[in-house]
Amino acid sequence: MNAPARVNDPRAPERMKAWVLGGPDELRLVDKPVPRPGAAEVLVRIGATAVCGTDLEVISHGPPALVQGGLPFNKNFTPGHEYMGTVAQLGPGVDEFDVGDRVAVEIHAGCGRCERCREGMYTACVNYGMNYGDRDKGHRANGFTTDGGFAEYAVNHVNTLVRVPRDMSDEEATLIVTAGTAIYGLDVLGGLIAGQSVVVTGPGPVGLMGVGVAKALGASPVVLTGTERDRKRLEVGRKFGADEVVDVSREEVVAAVMRITRGKGVHYVLECSGAPNALNDAAHMVSRGGRICLVAFPHAPVPVDVAHLVSNNIYVFGIRGEGRSATRRAAALMAQKRFPAQLLHTHSFPLEEVPTAIRYAAERIEDAIKVVVKMH
Ligand SMILES: [Zn+2]
Ligand SMILES: [Zn+2]
Repeated sequence: MNAPARVNDPRAPERMKAWVLGGPDELRLVDKPVPRPGAAEVLVRIGATAVCGTDLEVISHGPPALVQGGLPFNKNFTPGHEYMGTVAQLGPGVDEFDVGDRVAVEIHAGCGRCERCREGMYTACVNYGMNYGDRDKGHRANGFTTDGGFAEYAVNHVNTLVRVPRDMSDEEATLIVTAGTAIYGLDVLGGLIAGQSVVVTGPGPVGLMGVGVAKALGASPVVLTGTERDRKRLEVGRKFGADEVVDVSREEVVAAVMRITRGKGVHYVLECSGAPNALNDAAHMVSRGGRICLVAFPHAPVPVDVAHLVSNNIYVFGIRGEGRSATRRAAALMAQKRFPAQLLHTHSFPLEEVPTAIRYAAERIEDAIKVVVKMH
């Protein structure tokens, strides 16, 4: 009966500062009640929150945010989904964590009762956004369907928490979830095994993490592609372990992959560019029976050479988020320092300067890769 004292943080106040979304591209810093954790939940005192490309989508256009069944505008909604912090309060029955534990979070707590959640694919929960009124199925996706991390506090389900090693900075810890997306695409969804070859198209944060994760899982060779504009990011890709980098402004990308693989093509493409012809290019980079994981997407529908996919038995699949506890596997690789994740973090701003942080990320000012809002 000598359980450790689970004293709730006396510093957790009644009210907090939080950014809320008004209309499109309209963020306001307001004073808001600190949320209280329910059963199987904790209150997290946020330490740092990274800006993600998807935040820019949510803030400007709305989807994939879905708040109370509709667009997230003018609903007192706080965006931000890539955050870390310290456990400040425990909900009823929580003994998995203690107050004071440093944690990073994954975004999705599925409903736990639908077919996909039962398979571990809770990022594809059938009850996405069903968390209100008489349609409350318990689904949460912080920063998308429930309040997120551009605030001093947020509530998280215990399933979404992963411990942060002592020697990992707050900024680096916000990147665990980014690595989680890459690992989910490669290991569980992709079935990547050691010795297989991978092309990562597009050196954004998930792409660069994809390079690091692929190398950590034993892939060889790992090829990273990008444009002239991405020169700095391609250099970072080499530090993440890319065996080859290809500047597609200089060399046609399919020809480059065929040169590197001596005409065989690769087992696997992780598509992180969203370029209109990326899927067709990927289909010509993989060998027969190869796999293409789509992480990024173009904004308009694009023509696809379906006959080539069919006749070559090519597998194509989209990925949403980081299911099957991928965040825990990502945290394990990062704790073992298998790739220099901290190199992705380029800029920090305080909570008061969230709009500036977002502008740095959106416009890639000073070659920004990951811009982090640091709370304290
Ligand atoms: Zn994100
Ligand atoms: Zn579900």
